[in-house]
Amino acid sequence: MDSITNTKRKVYRFGHRQTDGDRTMRNLLGGKGANLAEMSRLGIPVPPGLTITTEVCTEYNAIGKEATVELIAEEVREAIKQIEAEMDTVFGEDKNPLLLSVRSGARVSMPGMMDTVLNLGLNDVSVLGVAKKTNNERFAWDSYRRFVQMYGSVVMGMKPENKEDEDPFEEQIHQTKEARGISLDTEFTVEDLKNLVVDFKKLIKERTGQDFPTDPWEQLWGAIMAVFDSWNGDRAVYYRKINGYPPDWGTAVNVQAMVFGNMGENSATGVCFTRDAATGANQFNGEYLINAQGEDVVAGVRTPQQITLEGSKHWAELAKLSEKERAAKYPSLQEVMPKLYQELFRYQNQLEIHYRDMQDMEFTIQDGKLWILQTRNGKRTGAAMVKIAVDLLKEGMIDEKEALLQILPEKLDELLHPVFDPRALKRAKVIAQGLPASPGAATGQIVFFADEANKFKNSILVRTETSPEDLEGMDLAKGILTARGGMTSHAAVVARGMGKCCVSGAGALKINYKKRTMTVDGHEYHEGDWISLNGTTGNIIDGKVATMEPLLSGEFAEIMTLADKYATMKVRANADTPKDAKTARNFGAQGIGLARTEHMFFEGNRIMTMREMILADTIKGRKLALEALLPMQRNDFEGLFEALHGHPVTIRLLDPPLHEFVPHQLATQKELAEDLHISLAAVKNKVAELHEFNPMLGHRGCRLGITYPEITEMQTRAIIEAALNVKEKGIEVKPEIMVPLVGTLEEFESQEEVIKQTAETVFQEYGDRVDYLIGTMIEVPRAALMADAIAQRADFFSFGTNDLTQMTFGYSRDDAGKFMSYYLEKGILKADPFEVLDQEGVGQLVALGAKKGRSTKPDLKVGICGEHGGEPSSVEFCHDNGLDYVSCSPFRVPIARVAAAQAAL
Ligand code: PEP
Ligand code: MG
Repeated sequence: MDSITNTKRKVYRFGHRQTDGDRTMRNLLGGKGANLAEMSRLGIPVPPGLTITTEVCTEYNAIGKEATVELIAEEVREAIKQIEAEMDTVFGEDKNPLLLSVRSGARVSMPGMMDTVLNLGLNDVSVLGVAKKTNNERFAWDSYRRFVQMYGSVVMGMKPENKEDEDPFEEQIHQTKEARGISLDTEFTVEDLKNLVVDFKKLIKERTGQDFPTDPWEQLWGAIMAVFDSWNGDRAVYYRKINGYPPDWGTAVNVQAMVFGNMGENSATGVCFTRDAATGANQFNGEYLINAQGEDVVAGVRTPQQITLEGSKHWAELAKLSEKERAAKYPSLQEVMPKLYQELFRYQNQLEIHYRDMQDMEFTIQDGKLWILQTRNGKRTGAAMVKIAVDLLKEGMIDEKEALLQILPEKLDELLHPVFDPRALKRAKVIAQGLPASPGAATGQIVFFADEANKFKNSILVRTETSPEDLEGMDLAKGILTARGGMTSHAAVVARGMGKCCVSGAGALKINYKKRTMTVDGHEYHEGDWISLNGTTGNIIDGKVATMEPLLSGEFAEIMTLADKYATMKVRANADTPKDAKTARNFGAQGIGLARTEHMFFEGNRIMTMREMILADTIKGRKLALEALLPMQRNDFEGLFEALHGHPVTIRLLDPPLHEFVPHQLATQKELAEDLHISLAAVKNKVAELHEFNPMLGHRGCRLGITYPEITEMQTRAIIEAALNVKEKGIEVKPEIMVPLVGTLEEFESQEEVIKQTAETVFQEYGDRVDYLIGTMIEVPRAALMADAIAQRADFFSFGTNDLTQMTFGYSRDDAGKFMSYYLEKGILKADPFEVLDQEGVGQLVALGAKKGRSTKPDLKVGICGEHGGEPSSVEFCHDNGLDYVSCSPFRVPIARVAAAQAAL
């Protein structure tokens, strides 16, 4: 046993000799570190290395560089000794140096979000040792110039000075190529590479004032600290923000022996997936390059080749290459190195079975030996996620519960995204073809810079290639198009993760950033021009193409059936119109949890009748207008009841402040005055009268129905008449009338009385009855506190967590945008409470309200209908607090169904 085994480790080793960690230690070792340890345990050939824990990252933020080095130095040195022993090299030695890679690795994969340094340990002396040892001077100097370049960027902060400028090192490379009249990196002579190293170092000194470090240990500490720094870099912070990952997770650092895919024609490097990450098909696939380093494959500088013969043939078809050309120029790994391909195939199979999920792997072949550099559960599209879960279930690799738990509910959204309307597509002019990097359809106006993606409402980000800096713009854009890069390029991987349509590697595009143009086949496109992308076929289309809703796959239905089998909570939809109600039913909603009746008044010329009602000075006038509204509402309610076919329909009485319905602009005020045959002054007076300082806290909700009971009367009549009419057709109806914004029992009772009286009147008129419920929203904090009293009368509760959040935080729903992003950036709030339920605070009121309500009425039906009803973590909270249902927008119903099932599991 060595000296560090007994203490709390900060550094974990992996390799053939000694592996300290395993796959269960993701939080401590990061996903990459945990998997490297696990693969070592499985006997898969992994270059040996060490992982510095995520806890050290957190500590680093508190204690700084020097103290951190001191904290881990001894453990790192011991671990390096083991790597040296295994690789038969020595770190910092001149003749036989151990070279290292230094990479980040958080507990969740954040592709391209943090920095990597390769070939660490090289300097002017050891480069000669490597040259001699490998008998490959070119390789040694190429590795060295790559190291100086990466270290310069990542650790020493070398960046382009303006966004139009190239990376300073790349610029130097271009200049050298131009001067030498060559175009490919592979054409550099040893002399060129030596000169580049000198030029790079000079550049670094000029720009940073610092010398490039020659001592390998100094290099190592610098790189480790840079990885820790990158955890708080802009890219990582933004990625965390959009994914809701907390800053205190930290990243681990993996230091690993280098293996080289660029040692000559007998070496290669690549990325592979055990299944198709775009469609989910059970096909091993991937890309590789001979004589290259890993970065070359993902950065998209050279066009990668396909691993399998089948994939290669398919790719050639898309690229319109003849079989002869394909086999000569782009042969598959299966053809070029059949034995190693077989070995790789075995490992991918072993790893998928072991992890019981689709794997995304990186490998390198160094001089005829295969090394696996990493494996992780592969990122995939929503469609692939559903297909893979169902396939693994059918293959017997996982059970039903595991299949459900493999679904990321939010990702189902992608399956519900638009596709091109096939009719519009028939007329579409395809101008070029790229790789189908991330499926879906996008139509928009061209922008060339990520930070300008919000220039147009719908923009398509067009780049030669994307880099992690472009993340925010990629998120904002409707689609992404790149001229370079393969299916595993940054653009492709990130777009797939985002569920965003992306076409990559469209070689026919010539992009000129300075002129802001893209040229295809002689035609010049400018910023602002419309183009469309088909991420499923790789087609790039001229102009705007109409999109339409997607068709859902059989596997999607299977997952939904499974979800309903395990969920104990029901999922309803917020739907205001018969059309929404039908969509909701198609997505499997088991009822309507909220029909906002005011939304029905915005359609067509209904708003005029509504305004007439609002502007009426007398009860008589108001009643007349209400009479005109009655048939419209009844009609809509009939549509809702019919669409829901016996499932409950909760209809809420009028809620918003009335001034929302009156015109505030002079022109529309004039129009209204003319229509109603009253004076403009009268309209203006009424608008002024309706003005409130805090409309959200003003004359709205049940306060309207209480002061104008004729509104409640009309709405109740419309609901009950609609229910009786639909019942008459032989369709079962379950109406639930909901009173909004109640804060006291008396408010509820006052409305209950009007509703009951009106319903009785209608029953008598019809000579028929229906069962119906009268319940209330719990959306004022007082209602939650007084829930036991309110439950004496209410048949059901529905938590209106939008208003409840607004009133509990005291944040105006309409104005919170002004400070919310600041709050999120500064970490004052972890998430926007209007999006993700604040379980700690607002959640207490939900839990208390449900508990108190049921203390009075044990079988009280309780649900939620705020926006949180479709947000997975909030759904789980509702499940844990015994709610009977969640209600959310129709498109989120599938998400909520899976989230409800997962909560139950
Ligand atoms: C709520 O307040 O949560 C709610 C559902 O009602 P609205 O959003 O219409 O105010
Ligand atoms: Mg509300």
